Amino acid sequence: VLLQGSEAHHLAGVRRAHLGDHVLLFNGDGREYTARIVELSRRDVTLEITDVREPAREVGTRLVVAAPLPKGERAHFLLEKLTELGATEYVPLRSERSVIDPRAGRLDRLQKYVIEASKQCGRNTLMKVKAPADWNMYCRSAAVPPRRYVAHPRKPSASAQPAVPVEAAGDISIAVGPEGGFTEAEIASGLAAGWRPVSLGPRVLRIETAAIVLAAWAAGVSPCEP
Ligand code: SAM
Repeated sequence: VLLQGSEAHHLAGVRRAHLGDHVLLFNGDGREYTARIVELSRRDVTLEITDVREPAREVGTRLVVAAPLPKGERAHFLLEKLTELGATEYVPLRSERSVIDPRAGRLDRLQKYVIEASKQCGRNTLMKVKAPADWNMYCRSAAVPPRRYVAHPRKPSASAQPAVPVEAAGDISIAVGPEGGFTEAEIASGLAAGWRPVSLGPRVLRIETAAIVLAAWAAGVSPCEP
């Protein structure tokens, strides 16, 4: 394998790898490749693959998270955490009250955050950053997985039931609204398209907190003894 550009620079210049060192490579295909460095310069690194593995680190279903892009560093944080939690797709959501409309260059940067986070957490399949979508169209799209949950901070009634347990399995969609919240009309469109509103408690959460809580729930994260 020949590494060039930023990955070669990172390995040779930043990490100061040496000839003969072993590293783990991944290319987003779900596998990880143990490789030994056989040639090294500041611009290029040549590696020989010595082992291939396919560790099970994916959630096993589509887990699509649609949320408006939060401002500044919080966008990086959101992408990093969704990658760690196993979301398979992130859709930057536009809605009536959303503020940030990501351009193409920004989307490339978001995908770079996914790659960085994947390296760090050992994920070998990349979460896809999709094109921005308008809630009113997105919520009724047939391409959106049919188990649909929209975070809506309304006080639950005394008879509120827990949302369907995730063991019910199958591809799942999660949506979170903008800082100013979804409008009542947007929530009504969602309900008509089969989205179930879910409350996450009595406090108002930031976009990224709500997205992380729901993604962890959908990914079936629950502490267990190792
Ligand atoms: N005042 C806004 C409202 O009433 O919707 C608050 C918006 S909150 C900062 C951003 C988004 O996070 C909301 O649109 C909702 O999707 C989600 N959210 C925040 N807190 C929540 C909660 N306690 N329960 C459910 N969803 C919540």
